Amino acid sequence: MSTVPHLTLNNGVQIPQVGFGVFQIPPQDTKDAVLQAFDVGYRHIDTAQSYRNEEGVGEALRESGLERGDVFVTTKLNNGAHAPEAALEAFDRSLERLGTDYVDLFLIHWPLAMLSDFVDTWKTLEDIYSSGRARAIGVSNFQLAHLSRLQAQTTILPAVNQIEVHPYLTQTALTQFGREHGILVEAWSPLGQGAVLGDPTLGRIARSHDRSVAQVTLRWHVQRGHVVFPKSVTRARVEDNFHIFDFELTDVDLADIDGLNRDERTGPDPDTFDRVPPA
Ligand code: NAD
Repeated sequence: MSTVPHLTLNNGVQIPQVGFGVFQIPPQDTKDAVLQAFDVGYRHIDTAQSYRNEEGVGEALRESGLERGDVFVTTKLNNGAHAPEAALEAFDRSLERLGTDYVDLFLIHWPLAMLSDFVDTWKTLEDIYSSGRARAIGVSNFQLAHLSRLQAQTTILPAVNQIEVHPYLTQTALTQFGREHGILVEAWSPLGQGAVLGDPTLGRIARSHDRSVAQVTLRWHVQRGHVVFPKSVTRARVEDNFHIFDFELTDVDLADIDGLNRDERTGPDPDTFDRVPPA
């Protein structure tokens, strides 16, 4: 079994650098997908209220027989629940669905700066953190301007910023800001939702290490200090994505992969994304 390193968040909490993402896994398939990931060795699950599969994660946690403290669980605030009372209520419902009395990490999923005041929402997350029901709090899809506002107007700095990062979108400015201020970067869609898998440069580097393109891409992330949680329900891929700690990319490989950046998103742009699901 691969040994996954743990990184230390800015409040001292340890997070496994590789996790299992459950975005787009249908609710009825989630329990089995998470149990399979546990069986492969994953101990970090990334879900969200909007994925509508927190119950499946909770069922897997219970059925696995693992100790709650051995699994790192992240969930994220629904876009429709930014108002402080709604955020508190939504958080309580997450705990119920997950069947746990705390999460390891709770995130604001999107800043939605044109629709709500994310500073007020963040203050609610600070209250949740103070209550001990989230071991760490953070944000997702926050741009530099959003992070700077939190820094100026709130007391607790986010432990993480979960953003889209992959070889076609290297996010140099945001990752640099994270390094300077102790905000860990979690890379969502670390494989660009599969878009990078046919890249010839990644293919060449993968052949030179006798590894798959997915492994080389994920290895680039971990050597750049990102947390990753690739998603797949296919066991061979779930295993492939987990076994990335027994080889190392050279500085030249890393620079070649950095050079693939095209500032190309596969998901929405946080500056224009304002999608709130119907109640
Ligand atoms: P991803 O980059 O993990 O790519 C998933 C795609 O790649 C799937 O089609 C899968 O079949 C394929 N794939 C996975 N492993 C493979 C392998 N070894 N070989 C070949 N193909 C492989 O993209 P994602 O699912 O969008 O993102 C991963 C996780 O990031 C999500 O599950 C979720 O937890 C998180 N996420 C967060 C946000 C956010 O706004 N915070 C947005 C999107 C995703």
